[in-house]
Amino acid sequence: MNATLPNCLKSYELADPLVEDEAAQLASALSDSSGLQVYPRSITCARNAVFFLGRRGSDKSLGIVHSDSNPPGGFPLGFHGSSQKTDLDGHSLTLCETTPENAAALRSVFSFLVPRPLGLKKSAGCGDRLGLATPGHIRAVRRSSMAPILAQQSIRENARTGRTPQQVMDDAMWGVFEEGWRDGFGADADHLKNTADIDSCAAAGFTFYTIDPSEHVDNEANTAPFDVLKAKIEAAPWAELETGWMDTQSRFFNPIDLGEFSFKMDAGDLLRATAKYGRVVAHTVRMYRHLESVMNGKPFELEMSVDESETVTTLAEHIYIANELKRLGVKWVSLAPRYVGDFEKGVDYIGDLSEFEKSFERHVAVAKTFGPYKLSLHSGSDKFSVYPIASRLAGELVHLKTAGTSYLEALRAIAQVDPKLFREISAFARERYPIDRASYHVSAEVDKAPEAGRLSDDELMTLLDDFHAREILHVTFGSVLNHPDFREPFFAALRGDEEVYYQALEAHFGKHFAPFGESSKAVGD
Ligand SMILES: [Zn+2]
Repeated sequence: MNATLPNCLKSYELADPLVEDEAAQLASALSDSSGLQVYPRSITCARNAVFFLGRRGSDKSLGIVHSDSNPPGGFPLGFHGSSQKTDLDGHSLTLCETTPENAAALRSVFSFLVPRPLGLKKSAGCGDRLGLATPGHIRAVRRSSMAPILAQQSIRENARTGRTPQQVMDDAMWGVFEEGWRDGFGADADHLKNTADIDSCAAAGFTFYTIDPSEHVDNEANTAPFDVLKAKIEAAPWAELETGWMDTQSRFFNPIDLGEFSFKMDAGDLLRATAKYGRVVAHTVRMYRHLESVMNGKPFELEMSVDESETVTTLAEHIYIANELKRLGVKWVSLAPRYVGDFEKGVDYIGDLSEFEKSFERHVAVAKTFGPYKLSLHSGSDKFSVYPIASRLAGELVHLKTAGTSYLEALRAIAQVDPKLFREISAFARERYPIDRASYHVSAEVDKAPEAGRLSDDELMTLLDDFHAREILHVTFGSVLNHPDFREPFFAALRGDEEVYYQALEAHFGKHFAPFGESSKAVGD
Protein backbone atom coordinates (compact mmCIF):
# COMPACT_ATOMS: atom_id res chain seq x y z
CA MET A 1 0.00 0.00 0.00
CA ASN A 2 1.38 3.37 -0.97
CA ALA A 3 1.72 5.79 1.95
CA THR A 4 0.76 8.88 -0.05
CA LEU A 5 -2.55 7.60 -1.34
CA PRO A 6 -4.63 7.86 1.86
CA ASN A 7 -3.50 11.45 2.32
CA CYS A 8 -4.43 12.30 -1.25
CA LEU A 9 -7.88 10.82 -0.87
CA LYS A 10 -8.50 12.97 2.21
CA SER A 11 -8.39 16.13 0.22
CA TYR A 12 -11.57 17.57 -1.27
CA GLU A 13 -9.95 20.83 -2.32
CA LEU A 14 -7.13 20.78 -4.85
CA ALA A 15 -4.04 19.58 -2.93
CA ASP A 16 -0.55 20.96 -3.52
CA PRO A 17 1.46 19.03 -6.11
CA LEU A 18 3.31 16.03 -4.68
CA VAL A 19 7.05 16.37 -4.29
CA GLU A 20 8.99 14.46 -6.94
CA ASP A 21 9.78 11.36 -4.85
CA GLU A 22 6.24 10.93 -3.61
CA ALA A 23 4.88 11.43 -7.11
CA ALA A 24 7.27 8.83 -8.51
CA GLN A 25 6.33 6.27 -5.85
CA LEU A 26 2.62 6.84 -6.22
CA ALA A 27 2.95 6.72 -10.02
CA SER A 28 4.58 3.34 -9.77
CA ALA A 29 1.82 1.99 -7.49
CA LEU A 30 -0.84 3.42 -9.80
CA SER A 31 0.96 1.97 -12.83
CA ASP A 32 0.99 -1.50 -11.23
CA SER A 33 -2.67 -1.47 -10.47
CA SER A 34 -3.94 0.25 -13.64
CA GLY A 35 -1.71 -1.40 -16.21
CA LEU A 36 -0.89 2.08 -17.51
CA GLN A 37 2.43 3.82 -17.47
CA VAL A 38 1.47 6.75 -15.25
CA TYR A 39 2.97 10.21 -15.73
CA PRO A 40 4.11 11.22 -12.21
CA ARG A 41 3.56 14.96 -12.74
CA SER A 42 -0.03 14.40 -13.80
CA ILE A 43 -1.06 13.06 -10.39
CA THR A 44 -3.57 15.51 -8.95
CA CYS A 45 -5.48 15.11 -5.71
CA ALA A 46 -8.89 16.68 -5.18
CA ARG A 47 -12.54 15.72 -4.67
CA ASN A 48 -11.32 12.92 -2.38
CA ALA A 49 -9.93 11.22 -5.46
CA VAL A 50 -6.64 10.88 -7.30
CA PHE A 51 -6.60 11.91 -10.96
CA PHE A 52 -3.77 10.95 -13.30
CA LEU A 53 -2.83 10.44 -16.93
CA GLY A 54 -1.19 7.26 -18.13
CA ARG A 55 -0.38 5.50 -21.35
CA ARG A 56 -0.61 2.00 -22.65
CA GLY A 57 1.16 1.63 -25.97
CA SER A 58 0.43 4.90 -27.71
CA ASP A 59 -3.02 5.40 -26.17
CA LYS A 60 -3.41 7.73 -23.23
CA SER A 61 -6.11 7.41 -20.57
CA LEU A 62 -7.31 9.42 -17.64
CA GLY A 63 -7.41 7.44 -14.41
CA ILE A 64 -9.39 8.30 -11.27
CA VAL A 65 -8.91 6.43 -8.00
CA HIS A 66 -11.76 6.88 -5.56
CA SER A 67 -13.79 5.05 -2.97
CA ASP A 68 -17.09 3.51 -4.02
CA SER A 69 -19.01 5.87 -1.83
CA ASN A 70 -17.38 8.95 -3.36
CA PRO A 71 -19.16 10.25 -5.19
CA PRO A 72 -22.21 8.13 -4.48
CA GLY A 73 -22.51 5.70 -7.33
CA GLY A 74 -18.89 6.11 -8.41
CA PHE A 75 -17.40 8.52 -10.91
CA PRO A 76 -19.43 9.98 -13.49
CA LEU A 77 -19.45 13.75 -12.63
CA GLY A 78 -19.53 14.00 -16.39
CA PHE A 79 -16.74 11.44 -16.82
CA HIS A 80 -17.37 8.45 -19.03
CA GLY A 81 -15.27 5.42 -18.28
CA SER A 82 -15.23 1.96 -16.84
CA SER A 83 -14.68 1.23 -13.18
CA GLN A 84 -12.93 -1.66 -11.55
CA LYS A 85 -11.89 -2.67 -8.05
CA THR A 86 -8.18 -2.32 -7.35
CA ASP A 87 -5.67 -3.68 -4.89
CA LEU A 88 -5.18 -0.11 -3.66
CA ASP A 89 -6.80 -0.55 -0.27
CA GLY A 90 -10.02 -1.65 -1.91
CA HIS A 91 -10.52 1.60 -3.80
CA SER A 92 -12.02 1.75 -7.25
CA LEU A 93 -10.30 2.89 -10.40
CA THR A 94 -12.23 4.52 -13.20
CA LEU A 95 -10.42 4.60 -16.53
CA CYS A 96 -11.58 7.17 -19.07
CA GLU A 97 -10.57 7.73 -22.66
CA THR A 98 -9.21 11.15 -23.61
CA THR A 99 -12.43 12.15 -25.35
CA PRO A 100 -13.80 15.70 -25.66
CA GLU A 101 -16.45 14.84 -23.02
CA ASN A 102 -13.84 13.69 -20.51
CA ALA A 103 -11.68 16.71 -21.33
CA ALA A 104 -14.64 18.96 -20.54
CA ALA A 105 -15.34 17.07 -17.31
CA LEU A 106 -11.72 17.39 -16.22
CA ARG A 107 -11.77 21.12 -16.95
CA SER A 108 -14.81 21.50 -14.77
CA VAL A 109 -12.91 19.95 -11.86
CA PHE A 110 -9.56 21.72 -12.35
CA SER A 111 -9.59 25.40 -13.27
CA PHE A 112 -5.87 25.32 -14.10
CA LEU A 113 -6.83 23.36 -17.22
CA VAL A 114 -8.99 26.22 -18.48
CA PRO A 115 -7.13 28.80 -20.59
CA ARG A 116 -7.23 32.37 -19.35
CA PRO A 117 -6.11 35.85 -20.38
CA LEU A 118 -2.50 36.50 -19.39
CA GLY A 119 -2.56 40.29 -19.58
CA LEU A 120 0.73 42.09 -19.94
CA LYS A 121 2.91 39.18 -18.82
CA LYS A 122 5.77 38.48 -21.18
CA SER A 123 4.58 35.51 -23.15
CA ALA A 124 5.42 32.85 -25.71
CA GLY A 125 2.99 31.36 -28.17
CA CYS A 126 3.75 27.71 -28.70
CA GLY A 127 1.77 26.49 -31.66
CA ASP A 128 1.50 22.73 -31.96
CA ARG A 129 0.25 21.46 -35.30
CA LEU A 130 0.51 17.84 -34.23
CA GLY A 131 -1.20 17.97 -30.86
CA LEU A 132 1.73 16.18 -29.25
CA ALA A 133 4.13 18.96 -28.33
CA THR A 134 2.62 20.62 -25.25
CA PRO A 135 4.55 18.61 -22.62
CA GLY A 136 7.82 19.62 -24.32
CA HIS A 137 6.71 23.26 -24.44
CA ILE A 138 5.78 23.21 -20.76
CA ARG A 139 9.15 21.81 -19.76
CA ALA A 140 10.88 24.70 -21.51
CA VAL A 141 8.43 27.29 -20.16
CA ARG A 142 8.96 25.99 -16.62
CA ARG A 143 12.62 26.97 -16.78
CA SER A 144 11.87 30.38 -18.29
CA SER A 145 10.20 33.65 -17.39
CA MET A 146 7.67 33.30 -20.21
CA ALA A 147 3.95 32.79 -19.67
CA PRO A 148 2.70 30.21 -22.16
CA ILE A 149 0.04 30.53 -24.80
CA LEU A 150 -0.35 26.91 -25.74
CA ALA A 151 -3.29 26.28 -27.97
CA GLN A 152 -2.16 28.64 -30.71
CA GLN A 153 -3.46 27.72 -34.10
CA SER A 154 -4.57 29.62 -37.17
CA ILE A 155 -7.55 28.63 -39.27
CA ARG A 156 -5.11 28.02 -42.16
CA GLU A 157 -3.09 25.59 -40.04
CA ASN A 158 -6.23 23.79 -38.94
CA ALA A 159 -7.30 23.40 -42.55
CA ARG A 160 -3.93 21.85 -43.38
CA THR A 161 -3.76 19.54 -40.40
CA GLY A 162 -7.46 18.59 -40.44
CA ARG A 163 -8.04 19.66 -36.82
CA THR A 164 -10.81 21.70 -35.25
CA PRO A 165 -10.34 24.48 -32.69
CA GLN A 166 -11.78 22.13 -30.03
CA GLN A 167 -9.23 19.41 -30.83
CA VAL A 168 -6.42 21.94 -30.62
CA MET A 169 -7.71 23.05 -27.23
CA ASP A 170 -8.13 19.51 -25.91
CA ASP A 171 -4.71 18.33 -27.10
CA ALA A 172 -3.09 21.26 -25.30
CA MET A 173 -5.12 20.57 -22.17
CA TRP A 174 -4.08 16.92 -21.96
CA GLY A 175 -0.47 18.06 -22.34
CA VAL A 176 -0.90 20.56 -19.50
CA PHE A 177 -2.40 17.83 -17.34
CA GLU A 178 0.36 15.35 -18.23
CA GLU A 179 3.01 17.83 -17.10
CA GLY A 180 1.08 19.05 -14.06
CA TRP A 181 1.36 22.70 -15.11
CA ARG A 182 -0.82 24.78 -12.80
CA ASP A 183 0.42 28.30 -13.48
CA GLY A 184 -2.04 29.07 -16.22
CA PHE A 185 -1.94 29.34 -19.97
CA GLY A 186 -3.59 31.24 -22.78
CA ALA A 187 -5.12 29.89 -25.98
CA ASP A 188 -4.56 31.83 -29.21
CA ALA A 189 -7.06 31.74 -32.05
CA ASP A 190 -4.44 32.93 -34.49
CA HIS A 191 -4.79 34.93 -37.70
CA LEU A 192 -8.56 35.26 -37.71
CA LYS A 193 -9.79 36.82 -40.91
CA ASN A 194 -13.56 36.97 -40.52
CA THR A 195 -16.32 36.75 -37.95
CA ALA A 196 -17.06 33.07 -38.68
CA ASP A 197 -13.47 32.28 -37.58
CA ILE A 198 -14.18 34.08 -34.31
CA ASP A 199 -17.35 32.09 -33.69
CA SER A 200 -15.76 28.64 -34.02
CA CYS A 201 -12.84 29.59 -31.76
CA ALA A 202 -15.03 31.26 -29.13
CA ALA A 203 -17.12 28.10 -28.93
CA ALA A 204 -13.96 26.12 -28.13
CA GLY A 205 -13.01 28.45 -25.26
CA PHE A 206 -10.12 30.39 -26.77
CA THR A 207 -9.03 33.43 -24.75
CA PHE A 208 -6.55 35.22 -27.02
CA TYR A 209 -7.82 36.37 -30.41
CA THR A 210 -5.40 37.44 -33.10
CA ILE A 211 -7.18 39.57 -35.64
CA ASP A 212 -5.45 39.55 -39.00
CA PRO A 213 -6.69 42.40 -41.18
CA SER A 214 -3.71 42.19 -43.56
CA GLU A 215 -6.00 41.61 -46.56
CA HIS A 216 -7.20 45.15 -45.93
CA VAL A 217 -3.75 46.74 -46.03
CA ASP A 218 -3.39 48.91 -49.12
CA ASN A 219 0.25 48.23 -49.96
CA GLU A 220 0.04 50.44 -53.01
CA ALA A 221 -0.27 53.46 -50.70
CA ASN A 222 3.37 53.01 -49.75
CA THR A 223 4.67 54.50 -52.97
CA ALA A 224 1.55 55.95 -54.62
CA PRO A 225 1.75 59.57 -55.83
CA PHE A 226 -0.22 62.35 -54.16
CA ASP A 227 -3.29 62.32 -56.42
CA VAL A 228 -3.71 58.56 -56.05
CA LEU A 229 -3.43 58.91 -52.26
CA LYS A 230 -6.06 61.64 -52.29
CA ALA A 231 -8.44 59.39 -54.20
CA LYS A 232 -7.80 56.64 -51.67
CA ILE A 233 -8.57 59.04 -48.82
CA GLU A 234 -11.88 59.96 -50.43
CA ALA A 235 -12.75 56.28 -50.73
CA ALA A 236 -11.78 55.49 -47.12
CA PRO A 237 -14.52 53.82 -45.01
CA TRP A 238 -15.32 57.02 -43.12
CA ALA A 239 -18.67 55.87 -41.79
CA GLU A 240 -17.08 52.84 -40.13
CA LEU A 241 -14.19 54.96 -38.92
CA GLU A 242 -16.77 57.30 -37.37
CA THR A 243 -14.79 60.34 -38.45
CA GLY A 244 -13.81 62.38 -41.53
CA TRP A 245 -10.54 63.43 -43.12
CA MET A 246 -10.60 66.96 -41.61
CA ASP A 247 -11.07 65.61 -38.09
CA THR A 248 -8.42 62.97 -38.68
CA GLN A 249 -5.93 65.68 -39.67
CA SER A 250 -6.68 67.73 -36.60
CA ARG A 251 -6.19 64.73 -34.30
CA PHE A 252 -2.63 64.30 -35.55
CA PHE A 253 -1.75 67.98 -35.82
CA ASN A 254 0.25 68.30 -32.60
CA PRO A 255 3.58 66.54 -31.98
CA ILE A 256 3.08 63.26 -30.14
CA ASP A 257 5.05 62.77 -26.93
CA LEU A 258 6.56 59.28 -26.99
CA GLY A 259 8.55 59.52 -23.77
CA GLU A 260 12.17 59.61 -24.90
CA PHE A 261 11.30 61.60 -28.00
CA SER A 262 8.38 63.30 -29.67
CA PHE A 263 7.09 62.65 -33.14
CA LYS A 264 5.54 65.11 -35.56
CA MET A 265 3.38 63.43 -38.14
CA ASP A 266 3.68 65.40 -41.37
CA ALA A 267 0.86 65.69 -43.90
CA GLY A 268 2.38 63.09 -46.20
CA ASP A 269 2.81 60.56 -43.35
CA LEU A 270 -0.82 60.87 -42.35
CA LEU A 271 -2.10 60.66 -45.89
CA ARG A 272 -0.16 57.47 -46.50
CA ALA A 273 -1.01 55.93 -43.13
CA THR A 274 -4.72 56.58 -43.58
CA ALA A 275 -4.75 55.31 -47.15
CA LYS A 276 -2.77 52.22 -46.23
CA TYR A 277 -4.37 51.28 -42.90
CA GLY A 278 -7.80 52.99 -42.81
CA ARG A 279 -9.57 49.79 -43.92
CA VAL A 280 -7.42 47.78 -41.52
CA VAL A 281 -8.65 49.88 -38.61
CA ALA A 282 -12.25 49.58 -39.77
CA HIS A 283 -12.00 45.79 -40.14
CA THR A 284 -10.32 45.40 -36.75
CA VAL A 285 -13.09 47.42 -35.09
CA ARG A 286 -15.73 45.26 -36.78
CA MET A 287 -13.98 42.08 -35.60
CA TYR A 288 -13.49 43.45 -32.08
CA ARG A 289 -17.14 44.39 -31.68
CA HIS A 290 -18.25 41.01 -32.96
CA LEU A 291 -15.88 39.29 -30.56
CA GLU A 292 -17.12 41.37 -27.66
CA SER A 293 -20.69 40.36 -28.33
CA VAL A 294 -19.85 36.67 -28.87
CA MET A 295 -17.83 36.51 -25.64
CA ASN A 296 -20.75 38.08 -23.84
CA GLY A 297 -18.85 39.23 -20.76
CA LYS A 298 -16.34 36.36 -20.65
CA PRO A 299 -12.78 37.68 -20.38
CA PHE A 300 -10.69 37.65 -23.53
CA GLU A 301 -7.73 39.47 -25.03
CA LEU A 302 -7.03 40.71 -28.51
CA GLU A 303 -3.96 40.97 -30.67
CA MET A 304 -3.93 42.98 -33.85
CA SER A 305 -1.47 41.74 -36.45
CA VAL A 306 -0.40 43.07 -39.79
CA ASP A 307 2.80 41.02 -39.88
CA GLU A 308 1.74 39.17 -43.02
CA SER A 309 1.53 42.25 -45.21
CA GLU A 310 4.04 43.12 -47.89
CA THR A 311 5.27 46.48 -46.71
CA VAL A 312 6.95 47.55 -43.48
CA THR A 313 4.83 49.30 -40.85
CA THR A 314 6.43 52.70 -40.25
CA LEU A 315 6.40 54.53 -36.95
CA ALA A 316 3.78 56.97 -38.27
CA GLU A 317 1.60 54.08 -39.40
CA HIS A 318 1.88 52.33 -36.04
CA ILE A 319 0.86 55.58 -34.32
CA TYR A 320 -2.08 56.01 -36.69
CA ILE A 321 -3.31 52.45 -36.07
CA ALA A 322 -2.94 52.68 -32.28
CA ASN A 323 -4.54 56.10 -32.00
CA GLU A 324 -7.50 55.20 -34.17
CA LEU A 325 -8.18 51.81 -32.60
CA LYS A 326 -8.12 53.45 -29.19
CA ARG A 327 -10.45 56.21 -30.30
CA LEU A 328 -12.92 53.59 -31.51
CA GLY A 329 -12.89 51.76 -28.19
CA VAL A 330 -10.82 48.70 -29.14
CA LYS A 331 -8.81 47.20 -26.28
CA TRP A 332 -5.84 45.08 -27.24
CA VAL A 333 -3.04 43.36 -25.38
CA SER A 334 -0.54 43.04 -28.19
CA LEU A 335 0.16 44.28 -31.67
CA ALA A 336 2.29 42.83 -34.44
CA PRO A 337 3.57 45.42 -36.89
CA ARG A 338 5.33 44.26 -40.03
CA TYR A 339 8.90 44.89 -38.90
CA VAL A 340 11.81 45.94 -41.02
CA GLY A 341 13.84 43.03 -42.43
CA ASP A 342 12.63 39.50 -43.11
CA PHE A 343 11.02 37.13 -40.63
CA GLU A 344 11.04 34.00 -42.74
CA LYS A 345 9.66 30.75 -41.35
CA GLY A 346 11.90 28.66 -39.16
CA VAL A 347 15.17 30.51 -39.77
CA ASP A 348 17.00 33.42 -38.17
CA TYR A 349 16.28 37.06 -38.94
CA ILE A 350 17.40 38.23 -42.36
CA GLY A 351 18.33 41.88 -42.48
CA ASP A 352 20.28 44.62 -40.77
CA LEU A 353 20.11 44.08 -37.01
CA SER A 354 21.04 47.63 -36.10
CA GLU A 355 18.26 48.91 -38.31
CA PHE A 356 15.86 46.46 -36.64
CA GLU A 357 17.00 47.61 -33.22
CA LYS A 358 16.47 51.28 -34.03
CA SER A 359 12.96 50.75 -35.38
CA PHE A 360 11.97 48.27 -32.66
CA GLU A 361 12.93 50.78 -30.00
CA ARG A 362 10.54 53.30 -31.56
CA HIS A 363 7.74 50.74 -31.83
CA VAL A 364 8.24 50.04 -28.11
CA ALA A 365 7.83 53.75 -27.39
CA VAL A 366 4.50 53.75 -29.27
CA ALA A 367 3.36 50.60 -27.45
CA LYS A 368 4.15 52.19 -24.08
CA THR A 369 2.49 55.49 -24.95
CA PHE A 370 -0.75 54.18 -26.44
CA GLY A 371 -1.04 51.09 -24.23
CA PRO A 372 0.96 49.78 -22.69
CA TYR A 373 0.61 46.70 -24.85
CA LYS A 374 2.98 43.98 -25.95
CA LEU A 375 4.80 43.94 -29.25
CA SER A 376 4.27 40.62 -30.89
CA LEU A 377 6.92 38.82 -32.92
CA HIS A 378 5.23 36.58 -35.45
CA SER A 379 7.16 33.90 -37.28
CA GLY A 380 9.15 34.34 -34.09
CA SER A 381 10.79 30.94 -33.95
CA ASP A 382 14.51 30.65 -34.59
CA LYS A 383 15.07 34.43 -34.60
CA PHE A 384 17.98 34.00 -32.22
CA SER A 385 19.72 37.24 -33.17
CA VAL A 386 16.56 39.27 -32.47
CA TYR A 387 15.70 37.93 -28.98
CA PRO A 388 18.37 39.79 -26.99
CA ILE A 389 17.33 43.05 -28.66
CA ALA A 390 13.61 42.47 -28.11
CA SER A 391 14.17 41.42 -24.51
CA ARG A 392 16.37 44.40 -23.68
CA LEU A 393 14.14 47.01 -25.33
CA ALA A 394 10.64 45.69 -24.66
CA GLY A 395 11.21 44.14 -21.23
CA GLU A 396 7.90 42.56 -20.25
CA LEU A 397 6.09 43.97 -23.25
CA VAL A 398 6.81 41.19 -25.67
CA HIS A 399 4.94 38.22 -27.11
CA LEU A 400 6.89 35.67 -29.12
CA LYS A 401 4.92 33.47 -31.51
CA THR A 402 6.26 30.18 -32.70
CA ALA A 403 4.52 27.35 -34.49
CA GLY A 404 6.30 25.54 -37.26
CA THR A 405 9.47 25.03 -35.32
CA SER A 406 7.68 22.43 -33.18
CA TYR A 407 6.95 20.49 -36.34
CA LEU A 408 10.63 20.72 -37.31
CA GLU A 409 11.60 19.35 -33.91
CA ALA A 410 9.21 16.48 -34.56
CA LEU A 411 11.22 15.76 -37.70
CA ARG A 412 14.40 15.92 -35.63
CA ALA A 413 12.90 13.27 -33.34
CA ILE A 414 11.86 11.15 -36.34
CA ALA A 415 15.37 11.39 -37.80
CA GLN A 416 16.49 9.67 -34.60
CA VAL A 417 13.78 7.08 -34.08
CA ASP A 418 12.90 6.25 -37.71
CA PRO A 419 15.64 7.37 -40.12
CA LYS A 420 14.04 5.60 -43.07
CA LEU A 421 10.79 7.53 -42.63
CA PHE A 422 12.72 10.77 -42.27
CA ARG A 423 14.52 10.13 -45.56
CA GLU A 424 11.24 9.53 -47.36
CA ILE A 425 9.67 12.68 -45.90
CA SER A 426 12.60 14.85 -46.82
CA ALA A 427 12.68 13.56 -50.41
CA PHE A 428 8.94 14.20 -50.69
CA ALA A 429 9.30 17.69 -49.19
CA ARG A 430 11.81 18.62 -51.90
CA GLU A 431 9.27 17.63 -54.55
CA ARG A 432 6.41 19.53 -52.90
CA TYR A 433 8.30 22.69 -51.98
CA PRO A 434 7.86 24.57 -55.28
CA ILE A 435 4.07 24.27 -54.85
CA ASP A 436 3.72 24.60 -51.08
CA ARG A 437 5.94 27.64 -50.73
CA ALA A 438 3.35 29.82 -52.48
CA SER A 439 1.50 30.91 -49.33
CA TYR A 440 4.65 31.36 -47.24
CA HIS A 441 7.34 33.93 -46.89
CA VAL A 442 10.44 31.82 -47.63
CA SER A 443 13.45 32.00 -49.92
CA ALA A 444 15.05 28.52 -49.73
CA GLU A 445 16.18 26.85 -52.94
CA VAL A 446 15.93 23.11 -53.45
CA ASP A 447 19.26 22.94 -55.26
CA LYS A 448 21.05 24.42 -52.28
CA ALA A 449 19.60 22.02 -49.69
CA PRO A 450 21.66 18.93 -48.86
CA GLU A 451 19.99 15.67 -49.88
CA ALA A 452 19.17 13.12 -47.20
CA GLY A 453 20.26 10.36 -49.60
CA ARG A 454 23.85 11.53 -49.32
CA LEU A 455 23.90 11.53 -45.53
CA SER A 456 24.46 8.72 -43.06
CA ASP A 457 21.74 8.07 -40.45
CA ASP A 458 23.79 9.91 -37.86
CA GLU A 459 24.05 12.94 -40.11
CA LEU A 460 20.34 13.23 -40.93
CA MET A 461 19.67 15.69 -38.14
CA THR A 462 22.08 18.17 -39.71
CA LEU A 463 19.34 18.85 -42.29
CA LEU A 464 17.39 20.51 -39.48
CA ASP A 465 20.24 22.99 -39.06
CA ASP A 466 20.49 23.90 -42.74
CA PHE A 467 18.72 27.09 -43.86
CA HIS A 468 17.39 25.69 -47.12
CA ALA A 469 16.41 22.26 -45.84
CA ARG A 470 14.67 23.81 -42.82
CA GLU A 471 12.43 26.05 -44.88
CA ILE A 472 11.67 23.25 -47.32
CA LEU A 473 10.65 20.94 -44.49
CA HIS A 474 8.81 23.76 -42.72
CA VAL A 475 6.33 24.79 -45.40
CA THR A 476 5.53 21.27 -46.59
CA PHE A 477 4.05 20.13 -43.26
CA GLY A 478 0.48 20.05 -44.61
CA SER A 479 1.40 17.89 -47.59
CA VAL A 480 3.36 15.50 -45.39
CA LEU A 481 0.69 15.18 -42.73
CA ASN A 482 -2.03 14.63 -45.31
CA HIS A 483 -0.09 12.04 -47.30
CA PRO A 484 -1.48 8.53 -46.78
CA ASP A 485 2.04 7.03 -46.73
CA PHE A 486 3.32 9.40 -44.07
CA ARG A 487 0.50 10.38 -41.75
CA GLU A 488 0.25 7.26 -39.65
CA PRO A 489 3.94 6.35 -39.51
CA PHE A 490 4.71 9.98 -38.62
CA PHE A 491 2.47 9.99 -35.56
CA ALA A 492 3.39 6.42 -34.65
CA ALA A 493 7.09 7.28 -34.60
CA LEU A 494 6.53 10.26 -32.29
CA ARG A 495 4.10 8.48 -29.99
CA GLY A 496 6.25 5.39 -29.83
CA ASP A 497 9.14 7.34 -28.33
CA GLU A 498 7.63 10.56 -27.04
CA GLU A 499 10.52 11.37 -24.70
CA VAL A 500 12.79 11.93 -27.71
CA TYR A 501 10.35 14.53 -29.01
CA TYR A 502 9.82 16.17 -25.61
CA GLN A 503 13.53 16.48 -25.04
CA ALA A 504 14.14 17.96 -28.48
CA LEU A 505 11.41 20.54 -27.81
CA GLU A 506 12.67 21.39 -24.35
CA ALA A 507 16.18 22.00 -25.66
CA HIS A 508 15.03 23.97 -28.70
CA PHE A 509 12.57 26.19 -26.83
CA GLY A 510 15.01 26.57 -23.97
CA LYS A 511 17.26 28.31 -26.50
CA HIS A 512 14.39 30.57 -27.54
CA PHE A 513 13.42 31.60 -24.02
CA ALA A 514 16.84 31.98 -22.39
CA PRO A 515 17.49 35.49 -23.80
CA PHE A 516 14.25 36.64 -22.14
CA GLY A 517 15.42 35.65 -18.67
CA GLU A 518 15.24 32.60 -16.45
CA SER A 519 12.47 31.48 -14.16
CA SER A 520 12.51 33.20 -10.81
CA LYS A 521 11.13 29.98 -9.30
CA ALA A 522 12.95 26.72 -8.74
CA VAL A 523 12.23 24.03 -11.32
CA GLY A 524 9.28 21.91 -10.31
CA ASP A 525 7.57 24.63 -8.29
ZN1 LIG B 1 1.64 35.74 -37.95
